[in-house]
Amino acid sequence: MPDPAPAPAVDVAVVGGGVVGCACAWAARAAGLSVALFEARRVGAGATAAAMGHLVVIDEDPAELALARLSMALWADWDGWAAVEHAAAGTLWIAETEAQARAAQVKRARLEAAGWPAQWLDAAALRAAEPRLAPDLAGALRVSRDEIAYGPGLARRLADDLRAAGGRVEEMAPVARLADDGLEMADGRRVAAGHVLLAAGNDSPRLWRGPAPLPVRPRKGQLAITDRHPGWIRHALVELGYVDSAHGQEAESVAFNAQPRATGQVLLGSSRRFDDASPAVDAALLARMVRRARRFLPAVGELQLLRCWTGQRPATPDGRPIIGRVPGTPGPAAQWVATGHEGLGLTTAMGTARLWLDLLLGRTPAIDPAPYAPDRLLEPAP
Ligand SMILES: Cc1cc2nc3c(=O)[nH]c(=O)nc-3n(C[C@H](O)[C@H](O)[C@H](O)COP(=O)(O)OP(=O)(O)OC[C@H]3O[C@@H](n4cnc5c(N)ncnc54)[C@H](O)[C@@H]3O)c2cc1C
Repeated sequence: MPDPAPAPAVDVAVVGGGVVGCACAWAARAAGLSVALFEARRVGAGATAAAMGHLVVIDEDPAELALARLSMALWADWDGWAAVEHAAAGTLWIAETEAQARAAQVKRARLEAAGWPAQWLDAAALRAAEPRLAPDLAGALRVSRDEIAYGPGLARRLADDLRAAGGRVEEMAPVARLADDGLEMADGRRVAAGHVLLAAGNDSPRLWRGPAPLPVRPRKGQLAITDRHPGWIRHALVELGYVDSAHGQEAESVAFNAQPRATGQVLLGSSRRFDDASPAVDAALLARMVRRARRFLPAVGELQLLRCWTGQRPATPDGRPIIGRVPGTPGPAAQWVATGHEGLGLTTAMGTARLWLDLLLGRTPAIDPAPYAPDRLLEPAP
């Protein structure tokens, strides 16, 4: 058999068609670069397909806050935004106790300082905003500009926009290896590129060519969705302890998180578990999630759970994504990475794309790139 013909050379070759790869590829094309994106399965089939779709500005880490703020502004500016499933439902960060209510004021101050409005609702105002919540809750912080979106829809629309703008999107096209001058495809083709971006989520460590292992580790999450009850809840409801669950490195954790979907269904989350590669749903864990949900929404047990699924978040040791130039790679293709977005990749994909492209084009970065730089996590292999 003759060797397959080489694919045409491009300015940028992107590996991975999740929301992060799609946002980066779309942004590069919008900046006038020729772009080819390669996805081993279908666009949005990885962690992006499993996500809850909460576009939420998290404030505990200033770097995460800066990236999320940038990203939310870019989502809203994107031409495709009007066409994708999304709702400006806002978030209610729920305080169970007076101590949590006091802590929420710190959160409110941080969000407001970042230009992201947040309003304290006392117990009575909370009941009026969400009558199905338990009556003994202390109050909640309402963050009205957070959104709910459909993750795979975001990725697909970005890929469609990329195609429409003359970019190439190849699905069912696994990349076998990153090479000095571009990519080697599993079907034997070679793709010459000026820049290669590794955005393969949890598969990134396997393809990575940096000087030390890439510390991205799958963190399993489990979600469940009910039958349709339009208006049953109105906001994304999250317990204030959620961030401890997300930022902690515990082997397993559960935090209450519920969302009204555009279909009228109620989406319930969420769990976090390391070292469980199986896609199987864990019934005991599901029971724990539902128990936690009933603490906040006592009548949730009356709804039918229609589907339960799992996905793997690409997690890093410090909870921040890895965005930037891969050190120590010889070239001529410049090697870049954008991965490790854990449970916030839908929120931060657009900001990631902007930051990466600023670095690639030598522009002044929109935000400080240092907190996301790959070198911070690269320790020499023993
Ligand atoms: C249960 C759960 C709930 C979540 N909830 C939220 C939420 O509410 N809000 C939020 O912001 N985020 C949420 N997330 C996180 C979010 O889903 C991820 O951070 C985000 O999807 C990561 O996107 P990605 O493009 O980096 O990875 P992925 O979506 O995994 O994409 C990587 C892609 O690379 C492809 N690939 C792998 N190897 C190759 C190869 N060799 N060649 C070509 N392609 C390859 C894969 O097929 C995959 O499609 C959640 C995640 C989970 C699991």
